[in-house]
Amino acid sequence: MIAHHDQLQDVLKELGTDPKTGLSASEATSRLAKYGPNKLKEKKKKTNLQRFIEQFKDTMILILLAAAAVSFGVSISEGHAPYESLLILAIVIVNAIIGVMQENKAEKALDALKNLTAPKSRVVRDGKEMVIDAVSLVPGDIIVLDAGDMPPADARLIESANMRSDESALTGESVAAEKNANAHVVPDAALGDRFNMVYSGCSISYGRGRAVVTGTGMETEMGKIASLLSEENELDTPLQQKLAQLGKSLGIMALIACAVIFVIGIIDDIPVLEMFMTSVSLAVSAIPEGLPAIVTVVLAIGVQRMVKRNAIVRRLPAVETLGSASVICSDKTGTLTQNRMTLTKAYAASVDALENITTSNSEAVRALLQYSSLCCDGKIEIGSDGTEHHIGDPTETAIVLAAHRNGLTQKILNEKYPRLSELPFDSERKLMTTVNSIDGKNIVIVKGAFDVLAERVVSGDVEKARKVVDALSSDALRVLGVAYKVIDTVPEQPTSDELENGLTFMGLVGMIDPPRPEVRDAVSLCKKAGIKVVMITGDHVATAQAIAKDLGIMAAGDEAVTGKELAAMSNAELDKRVRHISVYARVSPTDKIRIVKAWQEQGEVVAMTGDGVNDAPALKAADIGCAMGITGTDVAKGAAAMTLTDDNFSTIVHAVREGRGIFDNIKKVVSYLLSCNIGEVLTVFFAMLIWRQTPLLSMQLLWINLITDSLPAISLGVEPVEKDVMDRKPKSRSEGIFANGLGLQLALQGTMLAILTLIAFYLGGGGTEGGIAGGRTMAFMVLSMSQFVQSFNMKSARSLFKVGVRSNPNHLLAVAVSATLLALVLFVPPLTRIFELTALTGGQYLMAVGLALFPFPVLEIAKAFNLARH
Ligand code: ATP
Repeated sequence: MIAHHDQLQDVLKELGTDPKTGLSASEATSRLAKYGPNKLKEKKKKTNLQRFIEQFKDTMILILLAAAAVSFGVSISEGHAPYESLLILAIVIVNAIIGVMQENKAEKALDALKNLTAPKSRVVRDGKEMVIDAVSLVPGDIIVLDAGDMPPADARLIESANMRSDESALTGESVAAEKNANAHVVPDAALGDRFNMVYSGCSISYGRGRAVVTGTGMETEMGKIASLLSEENELDTPLQQKLAQLGKSLGIMALIACAVIFVIGIIDDIPVLEMFMTSVSLAVSAIPEGLPAIVTVVLAIGVQRMVKRNAIVRRLPAVETLGSASVICSDKTGTLTQNRMTLTKAYAASVDALENITTSNSEAVRALLQYSSLCCDGKIEIGSDGTEHHIGDPTETAIVLAAHRNGLTQKILNEKYPRLSELPFDSERKLMTTVNSIDGKNIVIVKGAFDVLAERVVSGDVEKARKVVDALSSDALRVLGVAYKVIDTVPEQPTSDELENGLTFMGLVGMIDPPRPEVRDAVSLCKKAGIKVVMITGDHVATAQAIAKDLGIMAAGDEAVTGKELAAMSNAELDKRVRHISVYARVSPTDKIRIVKAWQEQGEVVAMTGDGVNDAPALKAADIGCAMGITGTDVAKGAAAMTLTDDNFSTIVHAVREGRGIFDNIKKVVSYLLSCNIGEVLTVFFAMLIWRQTPLLSMQLLWINLITDSLPAISLGVEPVEKDVMDRKPKSRSEGIFANGLGLQLALQGTMLAILTLIAFYLGGGGTEGGIAGGRTMAFMVLSMSQFVQSFNMKSARSLFKVGVRSNPNHLLAVAVSATLLALVLFVPPLTRIFELTALTGGQYLMAVGLALFPFPVLEIAKAFNLARH
């Protein structure tokens, strides 16, 4: 079979399918088993073992293991039990297991996310149209395609209406290709010339159609090139890249410090092996090699939290950007409002009468409703129990319902006055047109935005109607105009110029679309958080303004600008005025990109919503493109960084809040790890300088690293979002993690931990000949416990008394587990012996606790100062 060349009948026969009823469910199931799922082959997942082995790719860990092996040999040859080397091995293994667990967790979270954004497809099976996961599509399935859809597989068109497809992903051709079910295509036609086919990986940019699937999965054209493409690498987010860089620089510094420490030790006649093991262990502990991995986990967990609040983030970097969003440009219909349209008013031009919609309107209004209803694709299905089921565009279902109430049932109308041709609605034209056969005449019915329609009307008093439009719009009603004309012949390829001109004005319909109740609070939260909200809508300026004022988006002194005014503005003028414009009305999706750029020019980070095909460029240009999950097209979703599953404006605000929280948490983890690691390095460094003794042995250092760097650090990454995140202004785009002197603060905190540990070492007997074990035990206790305390300090930039110790149960649990591991080593005699620690006096234990707690009041005071300064 040559899918693009053979007669359609033959293709259908070959594929054993019926163009009307499609495949049966059982046939689809058996074909799925035969052809496999409709997806491209993914690269193989790493096994746990592979992951585990990868943990040992780190040079320092290998050096440590080599040193442990040497120590093992030495111990055996000298007749000691090789506890130290075995312990090191055990700790390294446990660390590797934790690493694998973290990676798995991050991957699971990201996979779950991928499943949420898995593409869907509309198919006809058993005679019914339904939505299924595109992955279970099989050859022979009949699919239904609309503008904005991405064909889920390769398919031959059965019918098409004004269909155009963007095939740039396959052919590189940026101009959308015209598609026509009736086109005849030669067998060896190039991909771009197969006008009767649609291909997976492309997108329908205009029109609609039905097609029969001819190839799925790796058998599609995309599949054929997918095997040629290099494997897609998951890119790190900018923050991860920055942190990896930071980790490297810190690693080098730690290595230099360890090398110096090693040299000092050698000069001071400390046994080479002990010195070597201590410095390598110190390097292993101090190099924050796990930082990017922890950041991934924090990001992934944050993203999962967002899913619960209806925001699906498709790209991790968006999470970081969300935290700095300073402008949100939002559509009106459905995002700020409920998109539950109810037709309340109708104006019949012939009798100059404005009526409320009832069940018995005047003849003139009934005629208007009849024509409007014929020019709608939206449907109302009324169940046997009287329940109404609205299908399609709410603007249209509102019209259809009003007509229905007046006894004008859409189904009957459509049968009586069949549709002969049509021009679908699009946000650019703001019109929709049908040609119906009414009483033997071909009647063109056009409905759409009144101002656009008025320019095409040649008969009827539009000026009178304009006054009605203004009055209704100021009451926040959405008003559509309706006009018609009679034509002799129905064009085969209808165009707007031909059908949508020389019209007779018929009347207006006005509908209400109440604002979403939660949006008002979300807008005021944005104000508090220093985020500007801008409404961008295709609707009339008066309607837009009325709703914007009601929601608090438009304040005194703010401007509303129409698409026409915007077009007349130069970029320079727009840049100057953009801060004062809160409403853009009657704009087309293509204007959105100008608005995004103008705000970005001001240095702002812009979130922008969108749903249609034409919104894709603006969604891509925005810092955070937000696609609508319910009404959004595949194309918009593909271009956006985030999908709002409930199409709700407040969801963006929730997501910004989460984004800020996630950035805070990453900052907390980084601050915690760095201050503690600085503390560890300085402790060893100064002890060597002062006392010429290693204050901590290699296994002691590794144990501290194990109990402080893993669990408490990760748990800080899941701190709940702080209450005051939305009281702050957005951070600037360039603001890094170490803004506002954080770097210096961490260095000071690390120094404080080191000083406390050195005091402990001294008090425990460090520096004296026989007191080294006591000194080390005290240092061991203080260095680990002060890090626990430091993890509490890092919970918030505010006082711990305000945040509460128990705000994050995960953190409490993590510290409890770590503290237990510390206690085991300190108080279970065999373990104490293996770790070369010793029992202390009651007074010494108390002193250690006191020293470890010291950073708490110090940081509380520092926080109070800091907050007072800002
Ligand atoms: P937003 O951009 O905030 O979602 P919107 O829904 O009003 O606002 P569009 O869908 O682009 O934006 O609609 C623009 C205008 O086109 C509407 O104000 C209305 O006058 C007209 N319109 C909307 N839907 C239809 C339709 N199905 N048929 C004809 N005209 C329509």
